[in-house]
Amino acid sequence: MGLLDRAGARLTSHPEEAEILVVNTCSFIDTAKQESVDTILEMACHKTEGRARKLIVAGCLVERYRDEIRKNIPEVDAVVGTGELEAILDAAGIAPATTSPPSPFNIITAVHADTRSGKESLAGTHKSAEPTVTSRSEGDHRERAGRFRRDDWAGASHLLPTYLYDETTPRLLSTPRASAYIKIAEGCDHPCSFCVIPNLRGKFRSRRFESVVAEAQQLVARGVQEITLIGQDTTCYGEDLGLRDGLATLLDAIAQIDGLRWLRFLYAYPNRITGRLLETIARHDNICKYLDLPLQHASPAVLKRMKRGAGADIFLKTLEKVRAAVPGIALRTSFIVGFPGESSSDFQVLEEFITEARFDWLGVFNYSDEEGSGAFSLDAKVPKRTIESRRKRLMRLQQSISRRAKKNWVGRELAVLAEGESAETPLLWEGRTEFHAPEIDGKVYINDFGSLENLEAGQFYRAQITEAHDYDLVARIVSSKL
Ligand code: SF4
Repeated sequence: MGLLDRAGARLTSHPEEAEILVVNTCSFIDTAKQESVDTILEMACHKTEGRARKLIVAGCLVERYRDEIRKNIPEVDAVVGTGELEAILDAAGIAPATTSPPSPFNIITAVHADTRSGKESLAGTHKSAEPTVTSRSEGDHRERAGRFRRDDWAGASHLLPTYLYDETTPRLLSTPRASAYIKIAEGCDHPCSFCVIPNLRGKFRSRRFESVVAEAQQLVARGVQEITLIGQDTTCYGEDLGLRDGLATLLDAIAQIDGLRWLRFLYAYPNRITGRLLETIARHDNICKYLDLPLQHASPAVLKRMKRGAGADIFLKTLEKVRAAVPGIALRTSFIVGFPGESSSDFQVLEEFITEARFDWLGVFNYSDEEGSGAFSLDAKVPKRTIESRRKRLMRLQQSISRRAKKNWVGRELAVLAEGESAETPLLWEGRTEFHAPEIDGKVYINDFGSLENLEAGQFYRAQITEAHDYDLVARIVSSKL
């Protein structure tokens, strides 16, 4: 969006108004692929019956089904994979901007200019912003062992994406003004046998430390107060750059930016939660006491077949260590049910673990059998009906755990970020505490503004929790903007 905006395109979120339609897609599990295809077909109608002239498909679906998309959906004019972001201008038929607006970080930009690869982008019309690509010996080893192969995907390009954006890449925020995501690394070297994300996204590679910090500074200068760091595995950050405890060092640097109220990271890998990382979270007031730790399962037998290792006992020790180092921390995790060979006793281990672990937030995914993944060739596939009933059972279990835990929130006074009127009713506002990550966790509904006439979206207020539901909370404002 930033590249298009800089080149002079006017962006709209109403497809009926657009001349050029861009569908950004996902393809890591069946439901994501279906949603992507449905959206492409919906947008194609605007081309055949409306004013749109061009339809561009971007993102992960392109990495997987590049030729198939064009063959099966003739309305599609161009495809842009995740490794060729800058080709979006060529695809849209828009000339790139010839001059860039001056960066407020001239020194860092200058340093970066020296290290740029300078290689031509796929569009062939302008310089790529891609820095020198790094990799880890773990990734190189896995590449030799075939981890990233796309042979099973007819029509997919064999070239893995190597693209990384940087702080000079133009960017438009699609999130509310107070919050922004920063992607600190791309790709993944882990061998998880259910997952095709490494095949889609390529080998793990970190953005330069200075580039991430510069982007965080720029965002805060633009009014952003909450930054969420993301990557397929944020806890590996910096390993390819030779940094030890790279994520902790990065958090430490970003937390010192004046004006940043909340900083968090998502998608931690369980065996990479170091003492230094926990100590960093505990030390900074503006690092949210929040940890997202996707565990995928708790039965050692299933985790072994998933090529992740560990099990309930080890995970419980990790959680104990986390809670001792950062008292009051909110924990989020996600699990996959119905992995090939998951027996009823494996599932029971998972249920008992969830009961004991008491997560604040929990997501459950049904196993999706993906061509190109290691698990695709495994026997003992679990029937779809069993998978769905196990998912429902876990969600019911978590609902009762969450209901009990949320009761303890009543009476607490917390900083709440007001996000705007509730989508359900204008009588309520929605907000979040530091224990709620954007978009994925429950909500705080504000039904009493205290002495204030109105709230302002993107502002922080002190609020008291007055009611608790299964996942959501209700609060009243006790003091104006913090
Ligand atoms: S760590 Fe996450 S992205 Fe990487 S292979 Fe495992 S599940 Fe996939």
